[in-house]
Amino acid sequence: MKGSDDYSKAVSNHYKQLMEYCKINQERLDRELPPPREDLNELLAERGVSRRDFIKWTSIMTSALMLPPMFRPAVAKAAENFSRLPIVWLHFAECTGCSEALLRSSYPNVADILLETISLEYHETIMAAAGYQAEQNLEKAITDFKKKFVCVIEGALPRGLNGKYLTLGPKGKTGIQVAKEVTHKAAATICIGSCSAFGNIQAARPNPTDSAGISKVLGISTVNIAGCPPNAVNFVGTLLHYLMFGGMPPLDSLGRPIWAYGKRIHDFCERRPHYDAGEFVEEWGDDGAKKGWCLYNVGCKGPYTFANCSKVRFNDGVSWPVMAGHGCIGCTEPGFWDTMAPLEKPIHEASIGGGERTVDNIGLVLTGLTAAGVAAHAVASAIRHKGKDEEEKHD
Ligand code: SF4
Repeated sequence: MKGSDDYSKAVSNHYKQLMEYCKINQERLDRELPPPREDLNELLAERGVSRRDFIKWTSIMTSALMLPPMFRPAVAKAAENFSRLPIVWLHFAECTGCSEALLRSSYPNVADILLETISLEYHETIMAAAGYQAEQNLEKAITDFKKKFVCVIEGALPRGLNGKYLTLGPKGKTGIQVAKEVTHKAAATICIGSCSAFGNIQAARPNPTDSAGISKVLGISTVNIAGCPPNAVNFVGTLLHYLMFGGMPPLDSLGRPIWAYGKRIHDFCERRPHYDAGEFVEEWGDDGAKKGWCLYNVGCKGPYTFANCSKVRFNDGVSWPVMAGHGCIGCTEPGFWDTMAPLEKPIHEASIGGGERTVDNIGLVLTGLTAAGVAAHAVASAIRHKGKDEEEKHD
């Protein structure tokens, strides 16, 4: 009993200290950051989001960030400060799908509205400037806000031909040069999407441009908001954390925020009871598909994929790929394009690249233990099915 009292006391003290730290940091930011560009309350009212909805959203974000309810007002303050944080957004080898997914929303929720207020000092896709003027804008932003701006990078960096597969601007600088110059002056670097985080499709076999993720190419630490595209909630939550504590949230070994990528898709999937019961879709459109059974046998990679899609979903929580009927393709994991996405069968049965390679021998070591667990489960399910078949035969 005494042990549990001591533990509760220690937890409560920890959060009190954390709250104190948060207050000091928010006061510092109030002094240092430029004034707000938008009044969030006015903008929310304009978009039909009531104060009540906003408070509800702050409660959801507080718990998503793994903080107790006492932090809700601090989350609200961070949201109000969102438009004060200078952002320099760079594009390298990618399709701009992440920007599209984050900045274009037909039914905006609070996270989407916050993204509209973001202080984008430089963003190649949506800014009006071009050529020399764009280059001057970038130079001005990274000088004026040196060590105060957050650099957000979308896209991988090609290393082939000394980086010349990707040149940018009127002076023809390589992506690597630009990335070095900007990240060097940034307070923090966030990789948005799996291309900048891990290389993604640019780095898929045979990777003719020798592309890789930012951290690997520049040898710096980055916060990786993985996904193809990632969920807006994960980006917004990470920036809110920064505006509360002046630093990035705890990360896993792949640089992904643990609050968003600490659990597997499979852990919170609504089809999970069917997996546990051995009820699998075996073919697209079969009876199991109509009944919403588990998609593991048609290639769902949810058991190997760390992300919160099954919890937060997309489009204001309306749906997500597995709910819509297609298995997870593992897009938050490094190398998923080679090892997971093309496989419409269970990973342990899959053979890639003409049959000589399987996912087990091309480096999916991290998923080995899970695969063993899944395989064991699949065997158990098969035995259950076999038993059922035999029973039916005897009837
Ligand atoms: S295997 Fe896929 S569809 Fe089945 S429960 Fe896991 S995440 Fe859901």
